[in-house]
Parts: sequence; structure tokens; C-alpha cells
Amino acid sequence: MAEYEAVIGLETHIQLNTRSKVFCACKADSWEDAPNTNICPVCTGLPGVLPVFNKEVAKKAVILAEAVHAAVQPVSCFDRKNYFYPDLPKGYQISQFDMPLARGGIIDLPIPASADPAGKGYTCRVRINRLHIEEDAGKTKNDGQQRLVDFNRCGVPLVEMVTEPDLRTADEAAQYLIRLRQLLRWLGISDADMEKGNLRCDANVSIRLKGSDVLNQKTEIKNVNSIDAVRDAIRKEIERQKRDVEEGKTIEAWTLEWDEDTGTLRKMRSKETEADYRYFREPDLLPLEISPEWKAEILVGFPEGPLERRLRFMSDYKLPKYDADILTLERGLSDYFEKTAKAYAGETKKVSNWLMNDVLRMVNDQGLNPAEMKLTPEYLAELISLVDAGTINITTGKALLQQINESGKAPKALVEEQGLAQVTDDSAIRAACQKVVDTNPNEVAAFKAGKETLMGWFVGQVMREMKGKADAKLVAQILKELLS
Ligand code: ADP
Ligand code: ZN
Ligand code: MG
Repeated sequence: MAEYEAVIGLETHIQLNTRSKVFCACKADSWEDAPNTNICPVCTGLPGVLPVFNKEVAKKAVILAEAVHAAVQPVSCFDRKNYFYPDLPKGYQISQFDMPLARGGIIDLPIPASADPAGKGYTCRVRINRLHIEEDAGKTKNDGQQRLVDFNRCGVPLVEMVTEPDLRTADEAAQYLIRLRQLLRWLGISDADMEKGNLRCDANVSIRLKGSDVLNQKTEIKNVNSIDAVRDAIRKEIERQKRDVEEGKTIEAWTLEWDEDTGTLRKMRSKETEADYRYFREPDLLPLEISPEWKAEILVGFPEGPLERRLRFMSDYKLPKYDADILTLERGLSDYFEKTAKAYAGETKKVSNWLMNDVLRMVNDQGLNPAEMKLTPEYLAELISLVDAGTINITTGKALLQQINESGKAPKALVEEQGLAQVTDDSAIRAACQKVVDTNPNEVAAFKAGKETLMGWFVGQVMREMKGKADAKLVAQILKELLS
């Protein structure tokens, strides 16, 4: 078989988490509402009503555009995209066509070693073609012999973001969605939950001979509602196209539908072209003007992005890639890391270890918000320093995490209050070791006969004797002396 490469471009629909819909005052999020209870004359397209644009939608869309380095257009326009479908009561969708909100942009995707055929990991630069604002349509579903329609989602604000065909593998496409989801949550502009449909993706796929730069006929995969399914569907479609091309068939511009239950692709229809939609300007809405002043106001407090922060954690704090990745998955956790690292005088890799191994488990198990924990970054830094200084041993330190978080008391105060400071007094430890040796003659005999693994057991006994507060290194040293 000739060597092929895939060419993939993604169109994502992102539901913005505004309070109200894009052109009326209905609540935007009706995930838990009964069908058709969150609608009004505007979003159901009754005659004589007028849409009023929700400015919050523009704000959140501008934030997203900025985060992907897209150029926000000073003027963009709304257009009617006309088609007939039962979930579209107006008979058209208000969207943006030739004058979208923003153009251009890039996302630099870190591709992990596990998704790199060469096993090293690399960066994949994906160019963004455009971002535009549009309204969502309703939902239909089958119920026995009937077809039901729910208009709750009509008029929910979406940003459609379209990439250039820069992705080459199904793994890169999955990584794009993983990073986009992370970014949206980081920015706080969308819940980005694919299962709930607030992040949706259509994948455009074609193949070509490796090394060529032509764009061949593509197909479009719709209705995929998880990242794993996107990866699967693209893989299958690439294989299908390779097979067909090898058999001398031509690839046609189909729209394919992913069937979640069977894990297969089905042909929905031959693709419609733009001319089919009879786009024209929405006469009921003014152009959307975003002045430099308004844009600057929207972007006050604009945060550093997760991927930028990931790179900075690697260079500023000398964190390994793996650590930097985990510590920037979520904005609250990454703020927490940075505050702790600043409050702590030692090596920041230690902070990372404490966070990833112990604090993160606590956060996940108890559903905590790092920003609101009583175990503040300052307290965590203090605790690690107490362990460093040998004031408490690491076991005591770890046990204290939960206590600090429950009581809100400073680590030093708790150590004093409960008398947890390590005994470093040589004679006290020596006495405890002697006692353990004297009371366990059988083990001593076994040890002396060569069963050296018993050392751990002896250390454990002494630690118990000293209520966990002895310096373990010292204990081992003294025991060795006594047993030799
Ligand atoms: P259409 O005219 O079918 O809507 P567009 O040019 O608007 O196509 O592109 C839609 C999406 O398809 C974009 O994400 C784009 O990157 C991607 N795309 C365009 N051409 C190809 C191709 N030959 N193979 C794969 N993806 C493509
Ligand atoms: Zn409404
Ligand atoms: Mg198009």
C-alpha cells in the first residue's frame, strides 16, 4: 500500500455559559428543565418579535478569541442561515457568515510521547480559521411512533470555532479537544462538557499521499459526543478512505454520522453547499461593533493560559513536563501550586510532589476547591519546611494535612499543641531501641542468623514505642549498632 497521511480540520461548537440566551431573556442553561419550559416568543420565532443581542455573549467570545490569538474584527455582522428542520422554529438560524467575530489564531498543542509514533512527543501548531457567534437549535427525539421536539435549547449562545486542516492524526484531533476543553474551563466561559452537548465537534477528514500538499475531497463526521468517540471515528474514517482509494474508488463529499452504540460511521447525506442556505444579513440586528476601548475593558484581568503556564512552570520552577501538565490541568490548582512555591524556600519539585501525591488526592476525594481550602498555600509551605528541618517526620507531616484543612490551624501550632515534634535526643531513642531488642529475643536471633529484612520490623517497633515521633534514620543507625 502507498503511504498516506490524513488531513483533518475540526469545527467545534462551544456553548457559552451566559445566564440568558443570545437574543432573548430566557435562561441559557436548561439542562435540568422539562421540555419546552424555558422558551419565549423570541426563541420560538413567533411573528412580530425582535431579537436583542446579549452583550455577555460578545464578551465571552472575545475572551476566547484572545486566548487563541485570533484577531477580533472591529465590526462583525449577523446573518440568517436558512434551512428547514423541525427543531428550528424560525426556519433560519441567526449566525455570522462573511463577517465573523474573529479571524485567524493558533493553538500550540503538546502531543504526548504516547501519541507520537516516534515515542518522543512534539508540538503541533493548529491554525484557527475563524470564530463566529450563532444561536443553537432545539432538539428532537423519537418516542415510540412519535417524533417529539424540545425548543429549550433554541437561542442558546454558541461560538463556532473552525481550524485550518492542520491536524494529521486522530490523536492530534483528540488532543485538540482535550486542550480546548481545558482552556474553556480555565477561562470560565463554558462548562465544555461533551456529554451535555456544550462542546460539540464535527471532524473533516481526507487523506493524501505522504509528502504531498494537495487537499483532497473530504468527508464530515457529525454527532460525536465524547473525545474518545472522535478519536475512534476519525481512525475508522481514515482506514475506510485508504481502503477505498486503494480499490480505485473516489472519495465523495459525504456527511457521516457516528453511531455510538455500534461504533460505526453511517452516511447521512451528501453534503449541502453554502448556496443551499441562502445566507443573507439579519435585518433585525445591528452590526456588532467592538471598539478598541470595549475590547480593552473586556480583557481587563485576562489570565495567562494553561499551555503558556505549563511552559512557564517548566522553565521558572524547573518542573518536569509530567508535573507541569498535571499542575496546570485546572486553574485553581495551578494558582495553588504557584503560591505554595513562592512561599516555600526549598526546591519547588518537592512542592509539586506533595501536591500531586497528597493534596490532590484530598482535593479529589473530598471535592475541594483549592482556592477555598483551609490548608492554604502558606500553611503547606510551612508544613513542608517543618519536615525539611526534621522537626516532624514525613509520616507525621502527611497525617497533618487533613487536620490543618479541618481546623484551619497553622502547622507549627498543631505540632506544638499535640507534641508531635520529632525526638532527636540520642539517649531517648537509644533507650527505646534497647527496650525493643531486649523484649524480642527470637527476632534478634533470627536477625543475627542472617534474616536482615527484619530491620524494617525493628524500626517499626521502635517508632511505635516512640509514638511515631523518632527520627527514623537515627533509629536505624542505633539499631544496627545494637544488633551487630
Ligand atoms: P466546507 O466548504 O465544506 O464548509 P471549509 O473550507 O469551510 O469546508 O472547511 C470546513 C472544515 O474542514 C475546516 O475545519 C477545514 O480545516 C476542514 N477542511 C477543509 N478542507 C479539508 C480537506 N481537504 N481535508 C480535511 N479537512 C478539510
Ligand atoms: Zn426565549
Ligand atoms: Mg464551511
